[in-house]
Formats: sequence, C-alpha cells, structure tokens
Amino acid sequence: MPTEKVDTIIIGGGLSGIYAAYLLSRRNKSFIVLEARERVGGRILSPEHQGFCSDLGPSWYWPEIHPKMARLIQDLGLKGYRQFEEGRGRFESPVGAVRTVSGYVMEPLSWRLSGGMMALIRKLCEDIPENAIRLSHPVCKIEKKVAGALISVGELEKEPRTRFRANKVILALPPRLAAATILFDPDLSHNLTQAMLKIGTWMAGQAKFYALYEEPFWRQTGLSGQAFSERGPLGEIHDGSNDRRGPFGLTGFVGIPAVQRDQQQLLIEAILSQLAIIYGKPAAQPMAFFYQDWARERFTATRFDQPPMYEHPLYHPPAGQTCIWDGTIYFAGTETANQHGGYLEGALTAAERAVMNHIP
Ligand SMILES: Cc1cc2nc3c(=O)[nH]c(=O)nc-3n(C[C@H](O)[C@H](O)[C@H](O)COP(=O)(O)OP(=O)(O)OC[C@H]3O[C@@H](n4cnc5c(N)ncnc54)[C@H](O)[C@@H]3O)c2cc1C
Repeated sequence: MPTEKVDTIIIGGGLSGIYAAYLLSRRNKSFIVLEARERVGGRILSPEHQGFCSDLGPSWYWPEIHPKMARLIQDLGLKGYRQFEEGRGRFESPVGAVRTVSGYVMEPLSWRLSGGMMALIRKLCEDIPENAIRLSHPVCKIEKKVAGALISVGELEKEPRTRFRANKVILALPPRLAAATILFDPDLSHNLTQAMLKIGTWMAGQAKFYALYEEPFWRQTGLSGQAFSERGPLGEIHDGSNDRRGPFGLTGFVGIPAVQRDQQQLLIEAILSQLAIIYGKPAAQPMAFFYQDWARERFTATRFDQPPMYEHPLYHPPAGQTCIWDGTIYFAGTETANQHGGYLEGALTAAERAVMNHIP
C-alpha cells in the first residue's frame, strides 16, 4: 500500500483547515490537506445560480466583534455588504395567523460576503498548491509512531485505501465528529474522548432553505424579509438578496427537529406554502431554490447532533488540551477555539493557534 510522507497533515478542508493550509503555505511549509468530501468548505456551502451564490451554511460575519474575519476579508480583497433589514417584519403564530410587526436591526450589525461565504474559501485556496488538497480522502485511523503519526484514509471496516506519514497532524474537524468516526491508536484517554463527544457541533442539527426571485416583491410592500414563525416549517426568515442588484432572495432556518425532517419533498412544499402565506403568492414560485439538511451530512453531524441545540455553548479545547501525543496532533476547528467558538471567527482563531503552536 502506498505511504506518502509529508511534514504536516491537515485533516479537514473547512475554513479552519483551509486557513491553516494558507498560513503554512505562506511560511513555505510542506503539508497536505485530507478532505473527506469531494469539495472543500465543510459547513460553508454556496451553490451558484445566475452568478449569485446562496449560502446554505454560514452567511453572516460581524466585523464589530470578529476582527480576524474582517481583516482577512479585507486582506484578500473581498467585499462585504450589510444584511438588508429595512422595513417591517412578519410574525406567524402557531395557528398560522400572520401579522406585520415592527422591524429591527440585528446587533451587532450582520454582513454578507459578495460571492457568498465560499468566496473566502476560493480566495484562500489560490495561495495553496493545487496538489496539496486531496478531496474524497476520509481519514479513518491515526496511529502514533515513534516519530509522528501514520494516517489511514478509507472506510473503517475495509482495508485503508492509502496512508500518509506525517511529523505533525492538525485535526481541523469538529471534535465530536473526530471522536465518533476516527480510530486513534493508542486510545485517547477516556476523559479526552468524553470531552470531545460532549462538544456539540455548532448548527450541525440545522437545515437551511434559500429561495431566489427576480424581484424583491416583499421590499416593494415595505417588508424587510425578516420573519419569525411559531408554526414552521421555517422558524426564522431573512432577506438573502445579492448586494443592490438581483437575484433577490428569502432564506430561513427550518424550525423542525432533524428527526422529523425525513420527507424532504413534503417539507419543501410546506416551506413554499409558508412563504406564500407570509409574503404573498409570488413567494411560492422562486426561479430557483436550495435546501440543505446538515444533520444528514455524515462529515458534519453525528447522531448526538440530531436533537436541536438551543443555546450557543461556551467552547474551549477538549479537556483543556490544544494538542495530544506530545505535540503530534494539534486541535483546530471552530469548536476548539477559546474565543468565538462555533463561528467562522473561531475557525480562524483555532487554525492560527494550531499553526503557531506547531511551528517552532
Ligand atoms: C446552517 C449554518 C449556518 C451558520 N451560520 C453562521 C454564520 O452566519 N456565521 C458564522 O460565523 N458561523 C455560522 N455557522 C458556523 C460556521 O459554518 C462554522 O463555524 C465554520 O464553518 C466551521 O469551520 P470548521 O473548518 O471549523 O469546520 P467544518 O466546516 O465542519 O470543516 C470540517 C471539515 O472536515 C471534513 N471532515 C470531516 N470528517 C473528516 C474525515 N474523517 N477525514 C477528512 N475530512 C473530514 C469535513 O468534510 C469538513 O470539510 C453556521 C453553520 C451552519 C451549518
């Protein structure tokens, strides 16, 4: 079986892993990113329609409180624009009665990225050598060796497809997912494994819907596109339009728990009818729509992520450890950040820590 040797292996090509790769690349270090999916971005996903990219994962950043994101976006020459919030909101009661309510501006101010959040990943990848990112490379096992680690790629129950030898490993995926799907040899301590399993993966139990229209008909009647519903399927809706020009969009989070979302077609039909009840008939006929159920994504969510998470957890490195096996494996991934954990800012924070700590 082929075994490739490299200085650093980054496991996971979401924002944290890609940012770690970008930082290593700028320092001329040798590394490989092993990404399980056939695409990079992880929870960042922005399918394109008529040149507009709809964010089905994160769509907002908050420059006032997330300085690393603000600076990176500026340094990379990307542009952000304010979340559209002008006008009144809508509220739907548990029995489907809809009323107009006063609108409000979210604090701190939310910004969207031109080109969708995927523009950030694409731009970072420009500075990463192309053959350094290996897609469709799910890591199934990490073994500690006298120096460094042996990393196996493939399905656990089968022979590994390929192996990598590395001096250092950056684990840039949710710790819960790592503990539930990757074999560590020797075993991680019971305390550390429990701590990793207990760290909920932020938004992993969520599903998001995006509808695109040629006209912002809700704005024309003085509505901001912001709505809250106690009936569902969408629990929270926002304007998801392009900056200034079209396409225009309405986007929302599904308020139904993951276990009740198994009938996708029926759910989408119910969402379109709900949009029509809240915004009028044209809302049921978008020119395009997208739906993503993150709870059904095996490289994001585990069974522990299926129940809804009501509060943003206070994240920190698992069991207080930023690295294990005498500095062979370093934790990255937003859920291991000391600050802004769960958010994009946390993904950058944790990546920076892993890179700074492991480069002498
Ligand atoms: C619906 C939704 C809305 C959100 N909204 C916002 C928002 O508005 N603002 C904000 O700041 N944050 C938001 N977030 C959170 C944000 O998406 C995350 O903080 C961020 O994307 C996490 O990046 P990460 O690299 O740490 O993890 P991930 O993006 O999860 O990346 C982990 C990567 O590891 C890969 N992987 C998994 N298992 C393996 C394996 N065995 N081998 C190799 N690779 C593997 C995955 O495929 C993935 O690419 C939202 C998330 C969701 C789902």
